[in-house]
Amino acid sequence: LGRKLNAALSSLNRVSVVDEKVLDALLKEVCAALLESDVNVKLVSQLRQKVRIKVKAAFENSGEKSREANRKNVVQKAIFDELVNLVDPGIDPYKPKKGYTNVIMAVGLQGNGKTTTCTKLAVHYQKRGFKSSIVCADTFRAGAFDQTRQSATKAKVAYFGSYTETDPVAIAAQGVAKFKKEKFEVIIVDTSGRHKQESELFEEMKQIGSAVKPDMTVLVLDASIGQAAEAQSRAFKESADFGAIIVTKMDGHAKGGGAISAVAATKTPIIFLGTGEHLTDLDRFAPQPFISKLLGLGDVQGLMEHMQDLATQNPDRQKEMAKKLEEGKLSIRDWREQIQNVMNLGPLSKITSMIPGLPQDLLQGSDEEGALRMKRMIYITDSMSSTELDSDGSLFMEFGKDGKPVGLTWRVSRVARGSGTTVREVEELLCQYRMMANMAKQAGGKNGWLQAMQKIQ
Ligand code: GDP
Ligand code: MG
Repeated sequence: LGRKLNAALSSLNRVSVVDEKVLDALLKEVCAALLESDVNVKLVSQLRQKVRIKVKAAFENSGEKSREANRKNVVQKAIFDELVNLVDPGIDPYKPKKGYTNVIMAVGLQGNGKTTTCTKLAVHYQKRGFKSSIVCADTFRAGAFDQTRQSATKAKVAYFGSYTETDPVAIAAQGVAKFKKEKFEVIIVDTSGRHKQESELFEEMKQIGSAVKPDMTVLVLDASIGQAAEAQSRAFKESADFGAIIVTKMDGHAKGGGAISAVAATKTPIIFLGTGEHLTDLDRFAPQPFISKLLGLGDVQGLMEHMQDLATQNPDRQKEMAKKLEEGKLSIRDWREQIQNVMNLGPLSKITSMIPGLPQDLLQGSDEEGALRMKRMIYITDSMSSTELDSDGSLFMEFGKDGKPVGLTWRVSRVARGSGTTVREVEELLCQYRMMANMAKQAGGKNGWLQAMQKIQ
């Protein structure tokens, strides 16, 4: 989906005049990409309408003289905003509070990833200082308790369940009572997913719900179920009034559009995305960064969060970075540090999509190929002088009388020679850096990373 949307939007840069015909063609491509990834037809046609109205109004207001570049921005922004609206119901999900027993109940069909997600959630909260536990109230699936026991043990999280008790409501109530007494701050209740008859399952969800009175119920949805997500989420909404959605298996070939439709159908926010089978494969979800990433614009917030996990031993440096980012003062040296940190984080295929301004093709090919490309970027910066590294890249550019860049300085070829790369590669790296810096500046302010960082800490 991302690649297609990205391609559609960048096709704007190739046309010189943005008129109704161009807009229609672009919208057609965007809508086709959305439909293909299983976003509900009605939602797609609504999006098309809304973008059209917005763009038309903006064009009319700006009059004949509006510059083409500006028109392109208007179109891009309208599409971006409407895509964000698709995944943003405008409702704040429940946030666990410290010093209180927060009960979270997970519901969803069997195989959607509930048990895995429960452990991931427990790990997530435990890392953030909440004493966390899991209650296995799945008596339907053989071996369910064993699965919980194994993964909870691996995650060093407390768990509760039974091999003999067959009543899931009784187990849920016992487990929650036990952990409440022991002053756990997060108690996650894992439930079963399927019965011979659906109505039995929904009845069970209702009963467990009234027995444990969850502060938040989470619907766990598999990204790959496509259009079925909508009906499924509606059905669960009635029996287990969930207040949040977690979409799992986003790492696969999932189209993900079904989940987007589920958000719209139930007006419930997505809070996390499951991105793999490991305990740490859980990404916090936020509408704007998600769409940015989808469109290849990078996910700065996600990146900052990863960096924060990585560098908890050096929170001051992180704060400094966030501040610099926000003020548009991130130097090439700082950028390199970010890239190096990210290289230390793990498989590139996971991480690179979070670095703003990195070339999309870094994601192509194997992890080794991606790592090689990244290493070349580091080689290039290694050949820069101290002054150059601390600059904002303008040292590498020649400016005309009107202040616009007209060419590259001798420094570029020197760096290319020094690093055994080409002028073209150095130029590309500088472009990427500038793009990142500009985006960071634009996105600062109210929803800036400094705020995001402070929330995380
Ligand atoms: P449940 O029946 O809803 O409890 O689902 P499980 O937690 O048992 O998960 C079913 C399968 O999906 C298991 O093989 C999990 O490893 C896998 N799974 C869960 N979440 C993810 C994810 O985010 N990515 C991938 N690739 N696999 C996942
Ligand atoms: Mg399970």
